[in-house]
Amino acid sequence: MDSTALCTLRDCTFAYSGEGAALRNVTLHVRACELVMLVGPSGCGKSTLLKSINRMNDLVEGCRIDGEILLDGKDIWSDKKLTRQARFRVGLVFQYPEYQLFEETVYKDIAFGPKNMGLSPKEIDRRVREAAGFVGLTEAQLEVSPFDLSGGQKRRVAIAGVIAMEPEVLILDEPTAGLDPSGREEILQNIESYRKAKNATIMMVSHSMNDVARLTDRLLVLNGAKIAMDGTPEEVFTHAAELEEMGL
Ligand code: ADP
Repeated sequence: MDSTALCTLRDCTFAYSGEGAALRNVTLHVRACELVMLVGPSGCGKSTLLKSINRMNDLVEGCRIDGEILLDGKDIWSDKKLTRQARFRVGLVFQYPEYQLFEETVYKDIAFGPKNMGLSPKEIDRRVREAAGFVGLTEAQLEVSPFDLSGGQKRRVAIAGVIAMEPEVLILDEPTAGLDPSGREEILQNIESYRKAKNATIMMVSHSMNDVARLTDRLLVLNGAKIAMDGTPEEVFTHAAELEEMGL
């Protein structure tokens, strides 16, 4: 085992109810402050892997999971109270997270997570304003309805809602999907500013090989429920024929 790993999956197999394995014998160590990007064909298990790290998958009825999922080398998920804390330490931004906005103002939406953590009103306010700053939302925008914002702005509100919980590990499932090039660039910069300011660990699914080559030192390629490659983009791109076969 890698004793310096912050997040570890050890020999993890995961299957949804009545289905074959969506993850098969996956072992993965992610160190603190790493930025890891995941690519792979649709349906290969990227979302399942990300959700396994903060055990959101366990909430799916009838699923089967084998193997160990550790945070700081500990199976802190064995205890309900610790699992709750761990969900705050490992923040997950789902695909198209803007569909989950529901409050009447942007401020209230971003404050939802910190409120759930039981923080003081002063600390909640600090976090809401800081998170809004990371994603480039103005003070005035905090008071409007999230439903009056553009698609890219809504996405940023949703990401701010997770950032406001100040997770050590920020996991994002295709955070730039469906945005135009400038919207995509802004979101990537927002994530990078959070990472730098908080020394956070980032794991994110991307469908853009360009972004991957530019932004990360560690690229995971998933295929058929397994990790097919794990290396720097340069190393991975030397396997061009295999990547093409996967449709990447
Ligand atoms: P990716 O993110 O790479 O597109 P997913 O992790 O979403 O892949 O899916 C992996 C496999 O698990 C696919 O075959 C998908 O159909 C299946 N799957 C995903 N979510 C569910 C679910 N809630 N119930 C049943 N099967 C699922």
